[in-house]
Amino acid sequence: MEKVIIAGPCSAESETQMLTTARKIKEISSSVLFRAGIWKPRTKPGSFEGMGEQGLVWLKKVKDDLGLRIATEVANAGHVELALKYGVDVLWIGARSTVNPFSVQEIADALKGSNATVYIKNPTHPELALWEGAVERIEKSGIKDIGLIHRGFKTHDHSSYRNNPLWQIPIEMKVRHPQYPMICDVSHIVGKRDGLLDVASKAATLDYQGLMIETHINPEVALSDAQQQITPDALKELLSKVEWKVPSLNTSVQDKLKMLREQINLLDDEIMQMLGARMKVAEDIGRLKKENNMPILQPNRFQEIINENVAKGKKHGLSEEFIVHFLDAIHIESINKQNQVIFDRKLT
Ligand code: PEP
Ligand code: MN
Repeated sequence: MEKVIIAGPCSAESETQMLTTARKIKEISSSVLFRAGIWKPRTKPGSFEGMGEQGLVWLKKVKDDLGLRIATEVANAGHVELALKYGVDVLWIGARSTVNPFSVQEIADALKGSNATVYIKNPTHPELALWEGAVERIEKSGIKDIGLIHRGFKTHDHSSYRNNPLWQIPIEMKVRHPQYPMICDVSHIVGKRDGLLDVASKAATLDYQGLMIETHINPEVALSDAQQQITPDALKELLSKVEWKVPSLNTSVQDKLKMLREQINLLDDEIMQMLGARMKVAEDIGRLKKENNMPILQPNRFQEIINENVAKGKKHGLSEEFIVHFLDAIHIESINKQNQVIFDRKLT
Protein backbone atom coordinates (compact mmCIF):
# COMPACT_ATOMS: atom_id res chain seq x y z
CA MET A 1 0.00 0.00 0.00
CA GLU A 2 1.33 3.44 -0.88
CA LYS A 3 2.12 5.56 2.14
CA VAL A 4 -0.08 8.56 2.89
CA ILE A 5 1.95 11.74 3.10
CA ILE A 6 0.07 14.76 4.42
CA ALA A 7 2.09 17.96 4.04
CA GLY A 8 1.38 21.65 3.93
CA PRO A 9 1.36 24.62 6.25
CA CYS A 10 0.08 24.65 9.80
CA SER A 11 -2.27 27.46 8.69
CA ALA A 12 -3.47 28.92 5.41
CA GLU A 13 -2.11 32.48 5.52
CA SER A 14 -2.29 33.92 2.00
CA GLU A 15 -2.94 32.79 -1.55
CA THR A 16 0.75 33.13 -2.41
CA GLN A 17 1.91 31.18 0.64
CA MET A 18 -0.57 28.38 -0.18
CA LEU A 19 0.16 28.12 -3.88
CA THR A 20 3.94 28.44 -3.72
CA THR A 21 4.09 25.84 -0.94
CA ALA A 22 1.73 23.52 -2.81
CA ARG A 23 3.63 23.84 -6.11
CA LYS A 24 6.90 22.84 -4.43
CA ILE A 25 5.22 19.97 -2.63
CA LYS A 26 3.71 18.73 -5.87
CA GLU A 27 7.22 18.54 -7.33
CA ILE A 28 8.04 15.99 -4.63
CA SER A 29 4.94 13.91 -5.35
CA SER A 30 1.52 14.60 -6.76
CA SER A 31 -0.01 12.06 -4.41
CA VAL A 32 0.78 14.19 -1.33
CA LEU A 33 -2.34 15.24 0.51
CA PHE A 34 -2.06 19.00 0.96
CA ARG A 35 -2.99 20.20 4.45
CA ALA A 36 -3.69 23.69 5.78
CA GLY A 37 -5.41 24.79 8.98
CA ILE A 38 -8.35 27.12 8.33
CA TRP A 39 -9.64 27.49 11.89
CA LYS A 40 -6.83 27.28 14.43
CA PRO A 41 -7.51 26.11 17.98
CA ARG A 42 -5.11 28.31 19.96
CA THR A 43 -4.32 27.75 23.60
CA LYS A 44 -4.71 31.43 24.42
CA PRO A 45 -6.73 34.18 22.73
CA GLY A 46 -4.88 36.80 20.77
CA SER A 47 -2.81 34.41 18.62
CA PHE A 48 -3.51 33.90 14.92
CA GLU A 49 -6.79 32.00 14.72
CA GLY A 50 -6.83 31.15 11.02
CA MET A 51 -8.31 32.80 7.94
CA GLY A 52 -11.68 31.05 8.00
CA GLU A 53 -13.63 30.70 4.75
CA GLN A 54 -11.11 32.83 2.81
CA GLY A 55 -8.53 30.10 3.48
CA LEU A 56 -10.87 27.51 1.95
CA VAL A 57 -10.95 29.52 -1.27
CA TRP A 58 -7.14 29.16 -1.48
CA LEU A 59 -7.26 25.49 -0.49
CA LYS A 60 -9.75 24.82 -3.27
CA LYS A 61 -7.48 26.66 -5.69
CA VAL A 62 -4.67 24.25 -4.77
CA LYS A 63 -7.00 21.40 -5.65
CA ASP A 64 -8.38 22.94 -8.85
CA ASP A 65 -5.15 24.40 -10.23
CA LEU A 66 -2.62 21.79 -9.11
CA GLY A 67 -4.75 18.68 -8.74
CA LEU A 68 -3.56 17.90 -5.23
CA ARG A 69 -6.04 16.37 -2.80
CA ILE A 70 -6.71 18.66 0.16
CA ALA A 71 -7.18 18.26 3.92
CA THR A 72 -8.12 20.46 6.85
CA GLU A 73 -9.16 20.32 10.48
CA VAL A 74 -12.82 20.67 11.44
CA ALA A 75 -14.00 21.38 14.97
CA ASN A 76 -17.74 21.97 14.65
CA ALA A 77 -20.74 21.46 12.34
CA GLY A 78 -20.21 24.81 10.61
CA HIS A 79 -16.63 23.84 9.72
CA VAL A 80 -17.81 20.50 8.31
CA GLU A 81 -20.44 22.17 6.17
CA LEU A 82 -17.98 24.69 4.72
CA ALA A 83 -15.18 22.14 4.23
CA LEU A 84 -17.53 19.87 2.27
CA LYS A 85 -18.83 22.84 0.27
CA TYR A 86 -15.27 23.67 -0.83
CA GLY A 87 -14.50 20.08 -1.81
CA VAL A 88 -12.07 19.22 0.99
CA ASP A 89 -11.14 15.55 0.50
CA VAL A 90 -9.96 14.70 4.00
CA LEU A 91 -11.41 16.28 7.14
CA TRP A 92 -9.53 15.68 10.34
CA ILE A 93 -10.64 16.04 13.93
CA GLY A 94 -7.96 17.79 15.98
CA ALA A 95 -6.62 16.66 19.33
CA ARG A 96 -8.50 19.36 21.21
CA SER A 97 -11.79 18.21 19.69
CA THR A 98 -11.22 14.47 20.16
CA VAL A 99 -11.17 15.09 23.92
CA ASN A 100 -14.70 16.45 23.79
CA PRO A 101 -17.48 13.95 23.01
CA PHE A 102 -19.97 16.81 22.42
CA SER A 103 -17.76 18.26 19.68
CA VAL A 104 -17.11 14.86 18.12
CA GLN A 105 -20.83 14.06 18.12
CA GLU A 106 -21.65 17.41 16.53
CA ILE A 107 -19.07 16.73 13.80
CA ALA A 108 -20.35 13.17 13.34
CA ASP A 109 -23.93 14.44 12.92
CA ALA A 110 -22.83 17.04 10.39
CA LEU A 111 -20.99 14.35 8.40
CA LYS A 112 -24.06 12.10 7.98
CA GLY A 113 -24.73 11.34 4.34
CA SER A 114 -21.33 12.52 3.09
CA ASN A 115 -18.66 10.22 1.71
CA ALA A 116 -15.77 12.27 3.04
CA THR A 117 -12.62 10.71 4.43
CA VAL A 118 -12.22 11.49 8.12
CA TYR A 119 -9.00 11.25 10.12
CA ILE A 120 -9.14 11.34 13.88
CA LYS A 121 -6.19 12.63 15.88
CA ASN A 122 -5.50 11.21 19.31
CA PRO A 123 -6.85 13.30 22.22
CA THR A 124 -4.41 15.71 23.87
CA HIS A 125 -4.08 13.49 26.93
CA PRO A 126 -3.22 9.78 26.86
CA GLU A 127 -6.67 8.17 27.02
CA LEU A 128 -7.15 5.39 24.53
CA ALA A 129 -10.88 5.02 25.27
CA LEU A 130 -11.57 8.63 24.30
CA TRP A 131 -9.79 8.14 20.98
CA GLU A 132 -11.79 4.96 20.37
CA GLY A 133 -14.99 6.73 21.40
CA ALA A 134 -14.41 9.40 18.75
CA VAL A 135 -13.79 6.70 16.13
CA GLU A 136 -17.03 4.94 17.12
CA ARG A 137 -19.03 8.18 16.83
CA ILE A 138 -17.69 8.77 13.33
CA GLU A 139 -18.31 5.12 12.35
CA LYS A 140 -21.91 5.46 13.55
CA SER A 141 -22.43 8.50 11.34
CA GLY A 142 -21.95 6.20 8.34
CA ILE A 143 -18.45 7.38 7.37
CA LYS A 144 -16.54 4.43 5.90
CA ASP A 145 -13.20 5.94 5.10
CA ILE A 146 -11.57 6.54 8.48
CA GLY A 147 -7.94 7.09 9.45
CA LEU A 148 -6.10 7.70 12.71
CA ILE A 149 -3.45 10.32 13.39
CA HIS A 150 -0.96 9.94 16.20
CA ARG A 151 0.19 13.44 17.25
CA GLY A 152 1.52 12.66 20.73
CA PHE A 153 0.21 13.54 24.19
CA LYS A 154 0.58 16.42 26.59
CA THR A 155 2.26 14.92 29.64
CA HIS A 156 3.90 16.50 32.63
CA ASP A 157 7.40 15.10 32.42
CA HIS A 158 10.96 15.79 31.41
CA SER A 159 10.38 14.73 27.81
CA SER A 160 12.05 16.82 25.14
CA TYR A 161 9.04 16.43 22.84
CA ARG A 162 6.33 19.03 22.42
CA ASN A 163 3.91 16.13 22.76
CA ASN A 164 5.18 12.88 24.21
CA PRO A 165 4.70 10.09 21.63
CA LEU A 166 3.87 7.36 24.21
CA TRP A 167 4.12 4.84 21.35
CA GLN A 168 2.37 2.06 23.22
CA ILE A 169 -0.96 3.90 22.93
CA PRO A 170 -1.09 4.17 19.12
CA ILE A 171 0.27 0.63 18.89
CA GLU A 172 -2.58 -0.61 21.06
CA MET A 173 -4.98 1.41 18.88
CA LYS A 174 -3.46 -0.18 15.74
CA VAL A 175 -3.79 -3.64 17.23
CA ARG A 176 -7.43 -3.02 18.15
CA HIS A 177 -8.39 -1.33 14.87
CA PRO A 178 -6.09 -2.81 12.23
CA GLN A 179 -8.51 -1.82 9.46
CA TYR A 180 -7.74 1.91 9.89
CA PRO A 181 -4.49 3.47 8.67
CA MET A 182 -2.33 5.08 11.35
CA ILE A 183 -0.51 8.26 10.33
CA CYS A 184 2.19 9.87 12.45
CA ASP A 185 1.94 13.65 12.84
CA VAL A 186 5.65 14.06 13.34
CA SER A 187 5.53 17.87 13.56
CA HIS A 188 3.24 18.12 16.57
CA ILE A 189 5.12 15.36 18.40
CA VAL A 190 8.56 16.90 17.96
CA GLY A 191 7.59 20.59 18.04
CA LYS A 192 10.76 21.79 16.33
CA ARG A 193 12.65 21.25 13.08
CA ASP A 194 15.37 19.06 14.62
CA GLY A 195 14.50 15.48 15.37
CA LEU A 196 11.69 15.02 12.85
CA LEU A 197 13.57 12.24 11.05
CA ASP A 198 14.00 10.18 14.24
CA VAL A 199 10.28 10.17 14.93
CA ALA A 200 9.36 9.60 11.29
CA SER A 201 11.77 6.63 11.19
CA LYS A 202 10.27 5.19 14.34
CA ALA A 203 6.82 5.41 12.77
CA ALA A 204 8.20 3.65 9.70
CA THR A 205 9.60 0.77 11.73
CA LEU A 206 6.25 0.45 13.47
CA ASP A 207 4.56 0.01 10.12
CA TYR A 208 2.54 3.22 10.18
CA GLN A 209 0.70 3.96 6.96
CA GLY A 210 1.94 7.51 6.60
CA LEU A 211 3.20 10.79 7.95
CA MET A 212 1.87 14.30 8.50
CA ILE A 213 4.57 16.98 8.30
CA GLU A 214 3.92 20.70 8.48
CA THR A 215 5.56 22.35 5.48
CA HIS A 216 5.74 26.07 4.73
CA ILE A 217 7.44 27.97 1.95
CA ASN A 218 9.01 30.27 4.54
CA PRO A 219 8.71 28.64 7.98
CA GLU A 220 10.46 31.40 9.94
CA VAL A 221 7.65 33.85 9.27
CA ALA A 222 4.75 31.40 9.68
CA LEU A 223 1.84 32.79 11.68
CA SER A 224 1.49 29.59 13.71
CA ASP A 225 3.91 26.80 14.69
CA ALA A 226 6.83 28.64 13.03
CA GLN A 227 9.39 26.68 15.05
CA GLN A 228 8.35 23.25 13.76
CA GLN A 229 7.49 23.80 10.09
CA ILE A 230 9.99 22.86 7.40
CA THR A 231 10.52 23.97 3.82
CA PRO A 232 9.41 21.78 0.91
CA ASP A 233 13.12 21.10 0.19
CA ALA A 234 13.64 19.87 3.75
CA LEU A 235 10.50 17.74 3.38
CA LYS A 236 11.91 16.16 0.25
CA GLU A 237 15.15 15.33 2.01
CA LEU A 238 13.37 13.94 5.05
CA LEU A 239 11.08 11.71 2.99
CA SER A 240 14.05 10.36 1.07
CA LYS A 241 15.67 9.27 4.34
CA VAL A 242 12.73 7.50 5.94
CA GLU A 243 13.03 3.74 5.50
CA TRP A 244 9.71 1.97 5.47
CA LYS A 245 10.67 -1.50 6.56
CA VAL A 246 8.46 -3.65 8.69
CA PRO A 247 5.87 -5.79 6.90
CA SER A 248 2.22 -5.61 7.90
CA LEU A 249 0.89 -6.52 11.35
CA ASN A 250 -0.98 -9.76 11.08
CA THR A 251 0.89 -11.84 8.54
CA SER A 252 3.31 -14.43 9.85
CA VAL A 253 4.35 -15.40 13.34
CA GLN A 254 7.69 -13.70 12.73
CA ASP A 255 5.97 -10.39 12.00
CA LYS A 256 3.90 -10.65 15.15
CA LEU A 257 6.97 -11.46 17.19
CA LYS A 258 8.78 -8.47 15.73
CA MET A 259 5.87 -6.17 16.55
CA LEU A 260 5.65 -7.48 20.12
CA ARG A 261 9.41 -7.04 20.58
CA GLU A 262 9.10 -3.51 19.31
CA GLN A 263 6.40 -2.94 21.95
CA ILE A 264 8.77 -4.28 24.61
CA ASN A 265 11.50 -1.91 23.41
CA LEU A 266 9.15 1.04 23.58
CA LEU A 267 8.00 0.14 27.07
CA ASP A 268 11.64 -0.22 28.13
CA ASP A 269 12.27 3.29 26.76
CA GLU A 270 9.43 4.55 28.96
CA ILE A 271 10.76 2.69 32.00
CA MET A 272 14.23 4.21 31.50
CA GLN A 273 12.73 7.68 31.15
CA MET A 274 10.69 7.22 34.33
CA LEU A 275 13.64 5.83 36.28
CA GLY A 276 15.74 8.80 35.19
CA ALA A 277 12.99 11.17 36.34
CA ARG A 278 12.72 9.34 39.67
CA MET A 279 16.47 9.65 40.28
CA LYS A 280 16.30 13.39 39.57
CA VAL A 281 13.70 13.69 42.34
CA ALA A 282 15.98 11.64 44.62
CA GLU A 283 18.74 14.17 43.97
CA ASP A 284 16.39 17.02 44.92
CA ILE A 285 15.64 15.15 48.15
CA GLY A 286 19.38 14.76 48.69
CA ARG A 287 19.84 18.54 48.40
CA LEU A 288 17.02 19.15 50.86
CA LYS A 289 18.49 16.67 53.34
CA LYS A 290 21.89 18.27 52.97
CA GLU A 291 20.53 21.75 53.67
CA ASN A 292 18.72 20.45 56.73
CA ASN A 293 21.40 18.08 57.98
CA MET A 294 19.18 15.03 57.72
CA PRO A 295 20.43 11.43 57.32
CA ILE A 296 20.16 9.83 53.89
CA LEU A 297 18.82 6.50 55.03
CA GLN A 298 15.36 6.58 56.53
CA PRO A 299 14.43 2.90 56.84
CA ASN A 300 10.78 3.49 57.79
CA ARG A 301 10.18 5.43 54.63
CA PHE A 302 11.71 2.65 52.51
CA GLN A 303 9.64 -0.01 54.26
CA GLU A 304 6.51 2.04 53.49
CA ILE A 305 7.48 2.24 49.83
CA ILE A 306 7.96 -1.53 49.71
CA ASN A 307 4.62 -2.27 51.36
CA GLU A 308 2.69 0.12 49.16
CA ASN A 309 4.28 -1.10 45.97
CA VAL A 310 3.97 -4.79 46.76
CA ALA A 311 0.21 -4.16 47.04
CA LYS A 312 0.16 -2.06 43.85
CA GLY A 313 2.31 -4.57 41.98
CA LYS A 314 -0.05 -7.44 42.89
CA LYS A 315 -2.84 -5.63 41.07
CA HIS A 316 -0.68 -5.70 37.94
CA GLY A 317 0.17 -9.38 38.36
CA LEU A 318 3.70 -8.78 39.71
CA SER A 319 5.11 -11.05 42.39
CA GLU A 320 6.21 -9.76 45.79
CA GLU A 321 9.68 -11.21 45.22
CA PHE A 322 10.11 -9.23 42.00
CA ILE A 323 8.85 -5.95 43.49
CA VAL A 324 11.19 -6.25 46.48
CA HIS A 325 14.20 -6.97 44.25
CA PHE A 326 13.30 -4.16 41.89
CA LEU A 327 12.77 -1.59 44.65
CA ASP A 328 15.97 -2.66 46.40
CA ALA A 329 17.92 -1.89 43.24
CA ILE A 330 16.18 1.47 42.88
CA HIS A 331 16.81 2.27 46.52
CA ILE A 332 20.52 1.57 46.25
CA GLU A 333 20.82 3.77 43.15
CA SER A 334 18.80 6.49 44.87
CA ILE A 335 21.04 6.40 47.96
CA ASN A 336 24.10 6.61 45.68
CA LYS A 337 22.66 9.64 43.92
CA GLN A 338 21.86 11.34 47.24
CA ASN A 339 25.35 10.51 48.49
CA GLN A 340 26.83 12.18 45.46
CA VAL A 341 24.73 15.29 46.06
CA ILE A 342 25.43 15.49 49.77
CA PHE A 343 29.17 14.86 49.54
CA ASP A 344 29.50 16.96 46.40
CA ARG A 345 30.80 14.14 44.30
CA LYS A 346 30.58 14.52 40.62
CA LEU A 347 27.20 13.31 39.38
CA THR A 348 27.15 10.79 36.57
C1 PEP B 1 -2.59 21.04 13.51
O1 PEP B 1 -2.52 19.98 12.88
O2 PEP B 1 -2.19 22.11 13.08
C2 PEP B 1 -3.15 20.99 14.87
C3 PEP B 1 -3.72 22.02 15.46
O3 PEP B 1 -2.92 19.80 15.42
P1 PEP B 1 -3.38 19.15 16.83
O4 PEP B 1 -4.90 19.00 16.77
O5 PEP B 1 -2.68 17.85 16.77
O6 PEP B 1 -2.92 20.04 17.92
MN1 MN C 1 0.27 23.24 13.74
